[in-house]
Order: sequence, then C-alpha cells, then structure tokens
Amino acid sequence: MRITRYAAALAAAGVVLAGCSSEAGDQAEDAAGNTVDVQEDVEFEAGTTMAELAEAGTITVGTKFDQPGFGLVGPDGEPEGFDVEMAKIVAAELGIAPEDIEWVETVSANREPFLQNGQVDMVVATYTINDARKEIIDFAGPYYEAGQDIMVAAGNPLGVTGPESFPDIRTCSVNGSTPAQYVQTNYPDAQLTLFGEYSQCAEALRNGQVDAVTTDNVILTGLVAQSDGDFELVGNAFTEEPYGIGIPKGDDEFRAFINDTLEEAYESGTWADAWDATAGAITDTEAPEPPAVDRY
Ligand code: GLU
Repeated sequence: MRITRYAAALAAAGVVLAGCSSEAGDQAEDAAGNTVDVQEDVEFEAGTTMAELAEAGTITVGTKFDQPGFGLVGPDGEPEGFDVEMAKIVAAELGIAPEDIEWVETVSANREPFLQNGQVDMVVATYTINDARKEIIDFAGPYYEAGQDIMVAAGNPLGVTGPESFPDIRTCSVNGSTPAQYVQTNYPDAQLTLFGEYSQCAEALRNGQVDAVTTDNVILTGLVAQSDGDFELVGNAFTEEPYGIGIPKGDDEFRAFINDTLEEAYESGTWADAWDATAGAITDTEAPEPPAVDRY
C-alpha cells in the first residue's frame, strides 16, 4: 500500500522513478536531482521513537526557510538544501518518503523550545552542537563543520578583516545564534543589531542600515550567491561550528539511530551527493570530508 501511494505521489509530482532495488526499496530522484532510498518494511523495537515515527508514516522536521544552500523554501513552497537532504535521508531510513515529511520553519532562537515542547521531532537547521544546548536537548552528528565569518558589501569599502573589526563597524546577526553570542561575549562594545532571521540581516546590509553580517561561512556564502554581486565574504573563519541534528533530550536510541544513518550516508556517498546537489552547486565547491560523528 505504501509503494502504491508513494508511486502515485511521485507520478503526481512529475518525479522520475530512477529505478528500484530489492534491498533499499524505491529509489527516486527528487526535484533537486538528488536520490534518497526509502526503506520498506522497516521494523523497530516497540516503544522507540523510530517505531512511533515509522508507524505514523510521517515526521515533523524543523529547518530554516531563508538560507540558500541549506534550507530555503522555493517557489513550490517546499524547502531545499543540504539540511533538508539530511532530514530526507533520516526519514527514508524510517520508511518515510520525502513528501510525507512535515516541514516547520525554525529560526535560530526557537529551535530548543520547539524540541522541548514537541512541536518538531527533530531540527536540522545549521544547528551548532555545544554544551549549553546539550543541557536541554541532544544532538546527533556532526554532519558538517562550518565556521563563523563576516559578509560585507562588494569591494569591502570599510576594509573589514575579521573579528578585530567588530568594534569599528555596525554588525547584524540573529537572536539565539552562536555568532551573535560570540560578538556579545568577545566584543561587548560592538554595535550589534539582532534580527530573527539572516535574510533580514542581508536586507539591512543592502539598505545600508549595517556594514556587515556575521554568522557561519556557509550561510553567508549562500547569501552572497543570491546577492547578484552586491555582497562578498571576508573569508577568514574564526570559530568552529559543528552542525548537529537536534532531538529531544534523553532519546539515546533515536540519537544512535540517526548517527548510524549519517555514517551509512557517508559510506554510500549519499551525503556527498546531497552536498553536490545543494550547497555545493550554489558555491561551486566539492563535498568536504564528512566529520566523524560524536557518540557522546
Ligand atoms: N550555527 C549557528 C547556530 O547554531 C549559527 C547559524 C544559525 O543561527 O542557524 O547558532
């Protein structure tokens, strides 16, 4: 029944069936040209989150909606990007097809609360693993290593070189993010404007309200690519931002399952394919070596 429904949904969406393999179930190419193998006849121990989600046939995922390359809602209303592909890979391993994922927009500041109050089953949203966050939620991964950088107007008119420039410029970042916290902690006198989402910071840079936007290099690279040559990256990353998949605290079985799934995706090349189809395509970069997952 699942196969029929899946095939019908694919046909309705105009998606090409790339082939079938008896082990991995339906293999389909999605709109981004990416391939996910949706498992059939999955079995999980009763009472686990995996069993509950597989039984429900759906999963609710928090991701960004305004970050090109990682999570950006396109004209069809569906999010696209590397984070979105990571979520599809995990869902597929639960027997859940991409079109059965329920996407919820999470911004930087609401990710922990959304996990804590059960509004989402997991968060894949350029989400840095750190100890403060690990006190209230848990992380699988990391599945990518970013670093904080700075984006300025093309030509870098103020000659911004790195974090040492923060005291002299007007900078924008986002509430509840590690880059905002970095500036507040290390440059308490910096002129920092905080918005809810990075697209608002890009707008503020465009209209001259700020001189710079600071967050992870990969987020900024996506915004530069979208800027028609108006913005550029300083290109001097100064922090480590390992991206994890956020889940409710204490669900060790679900965390181990996602970690296993990530390692399989590293091994099979699905992870690298996801990079090539999303962030890699936007920034014209090869997939890096995937980071080792941290089974803390
Ligand atoms: N990775 C950083 C964080 O988790 C910045 C990106 C973001 O705000 O999503 O806070």
